[in-house]
Amino acid sequence: MTNRPVRTRIAPSPTGDPHVGTAYIALFNYVFAKQHGGQFLLRIEDTDQARARRDSEKAIMDSLHWLGLSWDEGPDVGGPCGPYRQSERRDIYEKHAMELLEKGEAYRCFCTNERLNQLRVYQKAANTPPGYDRLCRNLDREESDRRAAAGEPFVIRLKMPLEGDSVMVDQLRGQIVRSYRELDDQVLLKSDSFPTYHLANVVDDHLMGITHVIRAEEWIPSTPKHIRLYEAFGWEAPQWIHMPLLRNPDKTRSKISKRKNPVSLLFYKEYGVLPEALVNFLALMGFSFGNDVEKFTLPEMIQAFSFEKVSLGGPVFDLEKLVWLNGLYLREMTPQSLLDAVQSLWLNRDYFEKIMPLVHERMRTLTDFVDLSTFFFNCQLDYATEDGKQLVPKGRTPAEMVALFEELVEAIDGMEDYTVENLEALLRRVTESRGWKTKDVFMPVRVGVTGRKATPPLFESMFIVGRERTRVRLRQAMNHLKTLPAPPAAG
Ligand code: GLU
Repeated sequence: MTNRPVRTRIAPSPTGDPHVGTAYIALFNYVFAKQHGGQFLLRIEDTDQARARRDSEKAIMDSLHWLGLSWDEGPDVGGPCGPYRQSERRDIYEKHAMELLEKGEAYRCFCTNERLNQLRVYQKAANTPPGYDRLCRNLDREESDRRAAAGEPFVIRLKMPLEGDSVMVDQLRGQIVRSYRELDDQVLLKSDSFPTYHLANVVDDHLMGITHVIRAEEWIPSTPKHIRLYEAFGWEAPQWIHMPLLRNPDKTRSKISKRKNPVSLLFYKEYGVLPEALVNFLALMGFSFGNDVEKFTLPEMIQAFSFEKVSLGGPVFDLEKLVWLNGLYLREMTPQSLLDAVQSLWLNRDYFEKIMPLVHERMRTLTDFVDLSTFFFNCQLDYATEDGKQLVPKGRTPAEMVALFEELVEAIDGMEDYTVENLEALLRRVTESRGWKTKDVFMPVRVGVTGRKATPPLFESMFIVGRERTRVRLRQAMNHLKTLPAPPAAG
């Protein structure tokens, strides 16, 4: 590998909340680049038009800035290799796909979806491996040009070698070998002329001078295709580093998921985790500092980092440990800076002004404010209380309520705009679809979100508590419901 200046990148797809996994991977890219006096880039991979969201892009950028993982080049700060948003680079991908077509490294595939579906059904029935059967790979160029000129829709596929092995050297894992026979002729350009992830990712990594691709291990299966693309273009490939995935702290040790852990960076911010503590915690997930040192700063990590100190055991995202570490950071703060931090999170005039109109009616003394509004400030609520019993209305079962909460959490996740009106519409819709009484939905949700049965107006409260904490609470309430005994069977 030639000695190029180190350039790394984080390339999130802005399809949801800013994920802890994105911060974890960004951190290692950042640290490696800084250690080598190189650059760290942010590239937004938003070619999935159906799923990409601008608000998600903004939340990702805000969260990474909050953590102090700022980039040298990116959509907001610009740079010599821009634009840094893939949706603004479509002509570049198209041009590169055409280049491979010209070189005979790729081909047009005119197979209709209908044919591909039939092929899948046939392969399943015949118990043969799935994948495209390469029907169009042998079309001669003239026919291909003629059909394209006549307006027949097509995709562009990469010609994978028909035999031999793909060999990747991963800096953490050594050689990873895969037989080309298992690899499909990957689609590079779709019929709407949008690129697939594979084409856009490789073209951009090359044009942006990325020297080290540090990403999560779930991308390992894609890497042989990427290596093949580098070869087809005649480009020098970057070094590959696939980091171990963050895992759930339960027996399954599955990839971290929002069902089992809050995964949104916004949650940790709203929970009152300090950015330094979260960065330190994420670093510990993949890296050991040495000498059992667990608490270290970002500059210290930049000094001490090496890939030899990255371990491959699936790191468990253990909230308790994060909170413990956060406590260490809090104790180092001066009372004044702690006060500033607490105030800027929730105990500030802006936030009080939102709450005040909701509790006003119920106050008899000024100090009533405290009791009436605690749930706006708390993070975790206790449901093993008298009020908590209202999570299951008379005549309903815990299982029914779990299903209701599950549906609500999903809907709140997918809600385009988190507003009072949309929340009300949602609760009315789930009530109607079940044919339940309003109170059978509203009361349990009220208790789930506030921990109390008498509270200020429900939708406004959910709105102020915010999307993040609302859904985390609904999930926690759901977990509590799952511990309740089922009612005895009839008879
Ligand atoms: N857009 C991909 C993601 O969402 C990028 C994967 C990569 O780093 O190549 O993670």
